Amino acid sequence: NSAPILESNGRYKVDQLKYPKYTGRKEKATFVTLARNDDLYSLLPAIKSVEDRFNHKFQYDWVFLNDEEFTDEFKRVTSSLVSGTTKYGLIPKEQWSFPPDIDQQRAAETRRQMKADKIIYGDSISYRFMCRYESGLFYRHPLMQEYEWYWRVEPDVKLYCDIDYDVFKFMRENNKKYGFTISIKEYEATIKSLWATTKQFIDQHPEYLAKNNMLDFISDDEGSSYNLCHFWSNFEIASLDLWRSPAYSAYFEHLDKAGGFFYERWGDAPVHSIAAALFLNRDEIHHFDSMGYFHPPFHACPVDDDVRLSHKCDCNPNQDFTWKGYSCTTKFYTVNGLTKPKNWQLHAE
Ligand code: GDP
Ligand code: MN
Repeated sequence: NSAPILESNGRYKVDQLKYPKYTGRKEKATFVTLARNDDLYSLLPAIKSVEDRFNHKFQYDWVFLNDEEFTDEFKRVTSSLVSGTTKYGLIPKEQWSFPPDIDQQRAAETRRQMKADKIIYGDSISYRFMCRYESGLFYRHPLMQEYEWYWRVEPDVKLYCDIDYDVFKFMRENNKKYGFTISIKEYEATIKSLWATTKQFIDQHPEYLAKNNMLDFISDDEGSSYNLCHFWSNFEIASLDLWRSPAYSAYFEHLDKAGGFFYERWGDAPVHSIAAALFLNRDEIHHFDSMGYFHPPFHACPVDDDVRLSHKCDCNPNQDFTWKGYSCTTKFYTVNGLTKPKNWQLHAE
């Protein structure tokens, strides 16, 4: 832990750019990023932002997953930015391909039709593998087994505010299981039968519904239809045990058998969100309202000046998406009886 040595050319010795080691108690937690080798240079600013705003203080591990081997360049450069231990995992081929019972012609017909309808990623096979993997498989990777909590990070994201507390400890101590920053409505065309398939599952397994679930966040008619609200899963701070639970394991299997990841284009965001809303009690779901977050094209920027200034946020509150009409976060606050920040209405238009 000696101070870095500054040489006369104005550079530090590379191997000495380490932060003092964090010696407090850490949670069994890790960052997790699914990425291609090509994502490296759009991922770096995201990692740097998370490190600068949060992780250099706590030095949590970072797991990188890929359906191909990571290059040495990817490993060398990412590990230079992460203050914790970095780990690089290969996704087994059978988890990044079509399950054997998928009707290839039907899947191809869907992709053709969605392309004609100009649905985003509608004709992509790899995007579907990605959504299925993030929905039901990432937490089964051997590198994830030692952890209880994860924080998902994607290329091109940014944190806008300082986070001076251990978010994983916060989750555990406050009995939170799922945390989000942005919520939004899904494209209906990508999930046409997801709700019917979900209702089928609940009919078969009513015992998995949490007593104080949050059905009123995802349905405006007591469950008859899905209102398309979901947590934007490019950011997630959550319990891995939630996905490893009997309820979610059975739910994912039910969805996977129905084939909607390929016959439609079910996203991991609505899948995770519906599960969290139904299998968790509402107070186990947390909105991180003072982090500030960006994933193209939406910004979450605390609209309360006191919050923004005390957390050193570098975002423009006039760009905040949280309280806008297409966001579902206003509904989240309303159905849960939470107090919205002062001035939220000024940012609703
Ligand atoms: P979007 O946010 O929905 O537009 O989708 P992204 O392109 O950001 O993909 C979501 C996440 O999956 C990101 O972390 C990507 O790096 C990752 N990802 C997407 N497609 C692939 C792929 O084919 N292979 C790998 N290894 N990662 C992928
Ligand atoms: Mn993304």
